[in-house]
Amino acid sequence: MIAFLIIAVVMYFFVVVPYARFRARFEPAPQPAPEMKDCPFCLSNIPAQATRCAFCTSDLTASKTPDLTNSNAPSVARVS
Ligand SMILES: [Zn+2]
Repeated sequence: MIAFLIIAVVMYFFVVVPYARFRARFEPAPQPAPEMKDCPFCLSNIPAQATRCAFCTSDLTASKTPDLTNSNAPSVARVS
Protein backbone atom coordinates (compact mmCIF):
# COMPACT_ATOMS: atom_id res chain seq x y z
CA MET A 1 0.00 0.00 0.00
CA ILE A 2 2.83 2.40 0.82
CA ALA A 3 4.54 1.46 -2.43
CA PHE A 4 1.35 2.35 -4.26
CA LEU A 5 1.31 5.77 -2.62
CA ILE A 6 4.93 6.34 -3.51
CA ILE A 7 4.28 5.37 -7.10
CA ALA A 8 1.24 7.62 -7.16
CA VAL A 9 3.27 10.57 -5.90
CA VAL A 10 6.06 9.86 -8.35
CA MET A 11 3.59 9.56 -11.20
CA TYR A 12 2.06 12.87 -10.12
CA PHE A 13 5.34 14.73 -10.29
CA PHE A 14 6.33 13.05 -13.55
CA VAL A 15 3.04 13.68 -15.33
CA VAL A 16 1.25 16.67 -13.86
CA VAL A 17 4.25 18.96 -13.43
CA PRO A 18 5.56 18.53 -16.99
CA TYR A 19 2.01 18.97 -18.24
CA ALA A 20 1.71 22.24 -16.36
CA ARG A 21 4.97 23.42 -17.88
CA PHE A 22 3.74 22.32 -21.29
CA ARG A 23 0.58 24.34 -20.84
CA ALA A 24 2.48 27.36 -19.58
CA ARG A 25 4.78 27.26 -22.59
CA PHE A 26 2.08 27.07 -25.23
CA GLU A 27 -0.50 29.28 -23.63
CA PRO A 28 -0.55 32.65 -25.33
CA ALA A 29 1.12 35.23 -23.21
CA PRO A 30 -1.24 37.87 -21.90
CA GLN A 31 -0.84 40.67 -24.36
CA PRO A 32 -1.00 44.18 -23.02
CA ALA A 33 -4.02 46.05 -24.21
CA PRO A 34 -3.07 48.51 -26.94
CA GLU A 35 -3.33 52.11 -25.93
CA MET A 36 -6.42 53.66 -27.40
CA LYS A 37 -7.55 57.21 -27.79
CA ASP A 38 -10.57 59.00 -29.13
CA CYS A 39 -10.40 60.66 -32.51
CA PRO A 40 -10.88 64.39 -31.91
CA PHE A 41 -12.95 64.63 -35.10
CA CYS A 42 -15.31 61.64 -35.04
CA LEU A 43 -14.73 60.52 -31.41
CA SER A 44 -14.06 56.97 -32.52
CA ASN A 45 -11.79 54.75 -30.47
CA ILE A 46 -8.54 54.41 -32.40
CA PRO A 47 -4.98 53.31 -31.47
CA ALA A 48 -3.02 55.98 -29.66
CA GLN A 49 -0.15 55.82 -32.16
CA ALA A 50 -2.36 56.28 -35.18
CA THR A 51 -1.54 59.28 -37.34
CA ARG A 52 -4.72 58.98 -39.36
CA CYS A 53 -8.15 58.04 -38.15
CA ALA A 54 -9.42 54.78 -39.58
CA PHE A 55 -13.03 55.96 -39.49
CA CYS A 56 -13.02 59.53 -40.74
CA THR A 57 -9.48 59.48 -42.29
CA SER A 58 -8.62 62.72 -40.55
CA ASP A 59 -4.94 63.54 -40.18
CA LEU A 60 -4.13 63.34 -36.50
CA THR A 61 -0.53 64.53 -36.66
CA ALA A 62 -1.49 68.19 -36.32
CA SER A 63 -3.48 67.57 -33.18
CA LYS A 64 -0.42 66.19 -31.41
CA THR A 65 1.14 69.66 -31.13
CA PRO A 66 -1.46 71.84 -29.43
CA ASP A 67 1.30 73.93 -27.80
CA LEU A 68 1.65 76.14 -30.85
CA THR A 69 -1.86 77.40 -30.50
CA ASN A 70 -1.58 77.88 -26.75
CA SER A 71 1.47 80.13 -27.11
CA ASN A 72 -0.61 82.73 -28.91
CA ALA A 73 -3.43 82.50 -26.43
CA PRO A 74 -3.66 85.20 -23.78
CA SER A 75 -1.64 84.22 -20.78
CA VAL A 76 -3.56 83.19 -17.69
CA ALA A 77 -0.68 84.32 -15.47
CA ARG A 78 -1.54 87.97 -16.08
CA VAL A 79 -3.59 88.27 -12.95
CA SER A 80 -2.35 91.65 -11.78
ZN1 LIG B 1 -11.93 60.02 -36.78
